[in-house]
Amino acid sequence: MLHLYNTLTGEQEKFEPLEEGKVRFYSCGPTVYDYFHIGNARPFIVFDALRQYLVFKGYEVEFTQNVTDLDDKIIDRAEEEGVEPEELAEEYAEAYFEDLDKLGVKEADYVPRVTEYVEQIIEHVSALVEKGYGYEVKGDVYFRVREFSDYGKLSGRSIDDLKSGARVEVEAKKEDPLDFALWKSSNPDEPGWESPWGRGRPGWHIECSVMAQTTLGESIDIHAGGHDLIFPHHENEIAQSEARTGKQFCRYWIHNGLLEFEGEKMSKSLGNFEYAREVLDDYDRETVRYFYFSTHYRKPLNFSEKNLEDAKSAVNRVYEFLSNVDELDTGGGDSESSLSEYGKNLLDRIETARDRFEEEMDKDFNTPGGLGVIFDLVKQANKFRDKGKSENRHLLKKAKSKVQELSEPLGLFQGREEASASGLEEDLLELLLEVRNELRDQGDWELADRMRSELEEMGIEVKDQEGETTWSVDRN
Ligand SMILES: [Zn+2]
Repeated sequence: MLHLYNTLTGEQEKFEPLEEGKVRFYSCGPTVYDYFHIGNARPFIVFDALRQYLVFKGYEVEFTQNVTDLDDKIIDRAEEEGVEPEELAEEYAEAYFEDLDKLGVKEADYVPRVTEYVEQIIEHVSALVEKGYGYEVKGDVYFRVREFSDYGKLSGRSIDDLKSGARVEVEAKKEDPLDFALWKSSNPDEPGWESPWGRGRPGWHIECSVMAQTTLGESIDIHAGGHDLIFPHHENEIAQSEARTGKQFCRYWIHNGLLEFEGEKMSKSLGNFEYAREVLDDYDRETVRYFYFSTHYRKPLNFSEKNLEDAKSAVNRVYEFLSNVDELDTGGGDSESSLSEYGKNLLDRIETARDRFEEEMDKDFNTPGGLGVIFDLVKQANKFRDKGKSENRHLLKKAKSKVQELSEPLGLFQGREEASASGLEEDLLELLLEVRNELRDQGDWELADRMRSELEEMGIEVKDQEGETTWSVDRN
């Protein structure tokens, strides 16, 4: 039975969804004003894997991850670059989906964008104002934190602690420095929507509450995000949601630890970070995924060359095992009754592997423990094979399929990524073909044909059809 550490209670709890067999799961998505860095990638990879693990355990999962395509960071960056905020957001939203795909993260069931939910956000803010939780001051609307008696329950802070710790902001507009914005008025040159409070745009926190509740319902099972979002973002999400519905917004709040860069906090403002797409230029996606899963998701994780190299060799070890098994010819010697000690041991490991794997993973999604079971299986199978017992192919193939079955929710060891032309290769090919077309135009057929046949020898097929030249790569 799955247990999850719940930030709300500070304990590891048995996971029991509101509706048996079904999980409603929300995870905070990116603000698309830049490419995401390798620290931002951690929740994307880890919580997608948790979602896949829930499916592996037989749950039906509905998963939402938003895209914040309207935010002050986007407005500021767009102004710096001299483009419209919508244009900038669209560019980085596309890059976000591309990078997720390269990392092997499956698309969420719902991917709401803030700009498509403004109507629902206005409705939610109006309801809060009506109930006395929200108040308007000159086109801005704030949440009255003191009205919500449970405020602080997620982060474990009391309103009075917060009050004494808060910087005394000279913001005469707010009734209380702790109050936060639900709706902000927009200048004429900023994006805005007509609302009961004039032209404006949503505050950041309200977006997640509304997108989670609109796609998944008023009460959801799991809400996930980085540890740095607990306060104030998630605390505010609870306040806005529960103040409106009077129901518990979310049962299990889970948070991943942050990524450190060579031992220091990774952040854009400090400049010590790498974009996920840069890391993927040097390492394949399974190495990157393995790197995340080799440490428990709640612990801090150190991004270092050594850790990535270690991950790379671990991944290679498993692939070596898988391809060794593939190389065994089939047929003959499949009797399990005549197994040696090593064989019996391996068979036993294979048969108990799934239970042991789930037992580890059920301890608050303990991926290092789960990987340990997979590696143990590989080790036992290699031992069996090294002892000259490779005549029992049946058993090794069984070990291989067990390894792949257990690795599936982690998106590992299902087969190497298919070789395809990289961006540079593609550009070079296009250039070569352009030159070849020039040669043909000039009537130098001999050289043009020679280029084609030499490319073909490299496995690149060139076709001339209806005045157009196309190419494809065949690496078999
Ligand atoms: Zn959020």
